Amino acid sequence: MPSSESHPEIRDSVARLCQGFPGEYWRDLDQRQAYPAAFVSALTESGFLAALIPEEFGGAGLGLSAGAAILEEIHKQGCNAAACHAQMYTMGTVLRHGNDAQKQMYLPEIAAGNLRLQAFGVTEPTSGTDTTALRTFARRDGDDYIVNGQKIWTSRAEESDLMVLLCRTTPREDVKKRTDGLSVLLVDMREVRGKSLTIRPIRTMMNHATTEVFFDDMRVPACNLIGEEGKGFSYILSGMNAERILIASECIGDAKWFTETATNYAKDRSVFGRPIGQNQGIQFPIAKAYAHMRAAELMLHRAIELYEVGENPGEEANMAKMLAADASWEAAEACLQTHGGFGFAAEYDVERKFRETRLYQVAPISTNLILSYIAEHVLGLPRSY
Ligand SMILES: Cc1cc2nc3c(=O)[nH]c(=O)nc-3n(C[C@H](O)[C@H](O)[C@H](O)COP(=O)(O)OP(=O)(O)OC[C@H]3O[C@@H](n4cnc5c(N)ncnc54)[C@H](O)[C@@H]3O)c2cc1C
Repeated sequence: MPSSESHPEIRDSVARLCQGFPGEYWRDLDQRQAYPAAFVSALTESGFLAALIPEEFGGAGLGLSAGAAILEEIHKQGCNAAACHAQMYTMGTVLRHGNDAQKQMYLPEIAAGNLRLQAFGVTEPTSGTDTTALRTFARRDGDDYIVNGQKIWTSRAEESDLMVLLCRTTPREDVKKRTDGLSVLLVDMREVRGKSLTIRPIRTMMNHATTEVFFDDMRVPACNLIGEEGKGFSYILSGMNAERILIASECIGDAKWFTETATNYAKDRSVFGRPIGQNQGIQFPIAKAYAHMRAAELMLHRAIELYEVGENPGEEANMAKMLAADASWEAAEACLQTHGGFGFAAEYDVERKFRETRLYQVAPISTNLILSYIAEHVLGLPRSY
């Protein structure tokens, strides 16, 4: 595997932690669609989930490259960080745009593992990708906002204390630009769950702890408004590069797991009296997927480099996410095909990882929308929607 991997000590200790959570652990959870609570606790206790929180708030104060290394290694080891990755990028919304009181109140508790900020409520059933068409509305009432509406695909809501919620505070017809009038609230779900906040799990093809949530006159103290009212869309956008980079890292980790698993199997499995890996029909798809993974990894490293020197790597972060998601999907396909019938058997973990990595063609942003971004913002073509 490539020697270009940064943060070798972090990767080593993540790999050691992951060894305590082998395939059987994930298979059992997958069957029951249960949350990997022990895995998330171990990651929290070891401080990995607080890697990006600044030291003054009790975190490790590391750069995005460290977060990327942690998530990549988790996936490379056959585990799945989807149960907790959001904390790494969602926390950034509070850190960058929250006021001092909010940061002092929440970040140290998140860093210590006492509070979980895992839920990110943006997508709605009717608006989908067209975020500014969202309908969830927060109306100011004295010292509170009263929130009504619905979100879908709010992953980990049942496993989180806090939710970063994007909602309208000014109706779309009353704003000049459709991106205006949206605001971010930090919702303390402990106080409203089961009352004005209803959470319903959605069963999906992989074990993802995703839900739909309903707000019914839910009161949120106005002091939980992040930044300025009406400017929320720009706060969410400002976290997108980090999110794309971290998800791309998971895809690179998946692609490495699939490539290694396929290679090992191709060496071991003998048919017609020789290893199947001796056939070019088996070698080439694995080799091609490996080459595509390495190319995507270079783009990812470029995006991280630009991000860490404070530039805006919108182009590179989007391309890294798309290329890495494509590479992991290609590697998944090669790995499953290499395993023949055994690729479909749960005990090999290939079909589980195959289902898990498919998500990244669609979420958190679909491939089409990345292509639209490149067409419009990089190539200067007319906006298509
Ligand atoms: C398991 C899972 C977990 C998720 N977790 C979260 C979460 O925690 N928080 C959250 O807020 N959201 C979450 N999402 C939502 C996710 O971000 C959306 O599913 C995704 O952005 C696509 O939106 P949509 O499903 O509404 O698709 P739609 O917007 O309905 O789009 C459907 C298809 O049409 C394509 N399409 C739409 N418009 C265009 C266009 N103009 N040009 C070309 N193609 C277009 C899309 O690419 C897509 O393939 C999650 C989704 C899943 C499946």
